[in-house]
Amino acid sequence: YRTTFGTALAPVQLVSALGWREGWDLARTALPDLILLDIDMPEHSGLDLCRALKADPRTAGIPVIFLSGAMDVQTKVHCFDLGAIDYVTKPFHPAELRARVRSALRTKRYQDLLSARAKLDALTSLHNRGYFDEFLQNAMTDSARLDRPCSLVLLDLDRFKSLNDRFGHPFGDLVLQRTGELVTQCVRTGDAACRYGGEELALVLPGVASVIAAKVAERVRTALAGMKLSPRGEPVTVTASFGIAEMREVGAMAPAELIAAADAALYAAKHTGRDRVIVQPPAPPG
Ligand code: GH3
Ligand code: MG
Ligand code: MG
Repeated sequence: YRTTFGTALAPVQLVSALGWREGWDLARTALPDLILLDIDMPEHSGLDLCRALKADPRTAGIPVIFLSGAMDVQTKVHCFDLGAIDYVTKPFHPAELRARVRSALRTKRYQDLLSARAKLDALTSLHNRGYFDEFLQNAMTDSARLDRPCSLVLLDLDRFKSLNDRFGHPFGDLVLQRTGELVTQCVRTGDAACRYGGEELALVLPGVASVIAAKVAERVRTALAGMKLSPRGEPVTVTASFGIAEMREVGAMAPAELIAAADAALYAAKHTGRDRVIVQPPAPPG
């Protein structure tokens, strides 16, 4: 059943399951912020369910509070060792249980915030390199499974060192921030715009073929040309070079190969005049 009650934080929606299998399925589909778990259940014990939840990366981060009639220390210790965040004995006082739930939810929210921050680049607020690696791997696996394309755009700002040299590092930082905002506006939800390294960004476009990725890159290139910046009253134009590669040989290509292909295209863009988009040449026949 579903019901709600208010806490100091926000309304809480409750869903419940009567038994091991149902609880396991519900936890993995609803991905709740907190699980209250009994030990005595038909079939398996709540301890087994807790162990299974903690072993699955999708549910491992969900705090589990045991709610049980078992009072012995050994059981309690076992529950905490399995990864439970708290243990409440029955009969319980509703006010105490609510307070423990609030406390566990506060910790969960803080953890969620930290793990979200850990995946962001502090300067540009784009996704960081760690997120990029994870996202690209998943995007390629999913695209291969669905028999869909997946494109990677690498973008490197042109002559960025000379911008830093002429106007100072803080101005270079501002250019990176503005570029990050602009790139974010050019991609769709479901894509990932990441800071790959210093002044190099990466766009992962799942389900997108390189012809379309080239259009996205052109959009970014045009937007960059329209960016108005005047350090010390001097108008400055910022340009970037783009290299694009598309996953081919579905399932047989590793992320490192896709990155190398996009990097080769980027290298070609740099060496044929910069401020341009180059798509990786098609594979030679055979
Ligand atoms: P190219 O067109 O060949 O890419 O020339 P470039 O000058 O952009 O290339 P190079 O790789 O020589 O220089 C990149 C510069 O980017 C050097 C580095 O100081 C600067 N850079 C990297 N990260 C940051 C950053 O976070 N802030 C600032 N302001 N500069 C950065
Ligand atoms: Mg560079
Ligand atoms: Mg550069």
